Amino acid sequence: MQLISDITSLRAHRAKIKGKVGFVATMGALHDGHLSLIESAKKDNDCTIVSIFVNPTQFGANEDFNAYPRNLESDKALCEQAGVDVLFAPLASEMYHYDEITFNPPKKMGYILEGFDRPTHFAGVIQVVLKLLCLTKPHCAYFGQKDAQQVLILQKMAYDLFLDVQIIPCPIKRDKDGLALSSRNIYLSAQERKQALCIPRAIESIKARIQAGEQSTLVLEHIAQEILAKEGVKVFYAGFYNYALEPIARIQKAKSLFLLAAQVGKTRLLDNLWI
Ligand code: AMP
Repeated sequence: MQLISDITSLRAHRAKIKGKVGFVATMGALHDGHLSLIESAKKDNDCTIVSIFVNPTQFGANEDFNAYPRNLESDKALCEQAGVDVLFAPLASEMYHYDEITFNPPKKMGYILEGFDRPTHFAGVIQVVLKLLCLTKPHCAYFGQKDAQQVLILQKMAYDLFLDVQIIPCPIKRDKDGLALSSRNIYLSAQERKQALCIPRAIESIKARIQAGEQSTLVLEHIAQEILAKEGVKVFYAGFYNYALEPIARIQKAKSLFLLAAQVGKTRLLDNLWI
């Protein structure tokens, strides 16, 4: 595995790569969710590039940028084991310039749900992912369905800006107890972790009711709300949307999402169901 931390070396190395390139962008503190994206990239491509960069521009002023877990040494070992070809771990001072051009997310998709509570978040995500795509020039880039709004916005970015990259959504990986894997799960105390399990329980209940034929999003949302309320977690949103992130009244197979964000202790957790 080639470990690269400066942009000049990355560009020189990329110019020498032949064949199909797959790219996985991460903020590190790698877990099986990240490793599943790497596995998909390896399967479809000749060369897999992974980035580890805790991107300052996607954190709000009162968010956890400084506290965000950073484990570069163990991440390196995991990438090596996973068969990553190039690991790019740049410094923020290399990635950003003075008074940069920025892009705003789409007005309808970018300022609801995660973007409602975190209005600068998706501009930061677009800015860093666009830079990383320009540097790594992948044929395919892999993103988790766990961050559903993110992957849909990035697909729209690739479409709107005529980027020559396929943005590929990959399924959510869960821990044994059902909680979606996230680098932020380490913030949870044992008690909070137990409480957080109402989130996958709500997702599972909804899934079962949909499989049993329920199509009304009002009925399904009520089921989820009841399960979440019992544990007393703070729900930011728990609702059904189409892939353009418009609220929907009835489920349509392969076109609907249930999106959920809740706070457990001080930790914001996301989960969802792609129907
Ligand atoms: P992050 O390091 O949190 O920025 O995540 C990097 C990538 O991994 C993003 O595309 C995430 O959506 C994806 N990811 C994070 N958690 C999971 C998970 N539990 N299952 C699948 N993909 C995930």
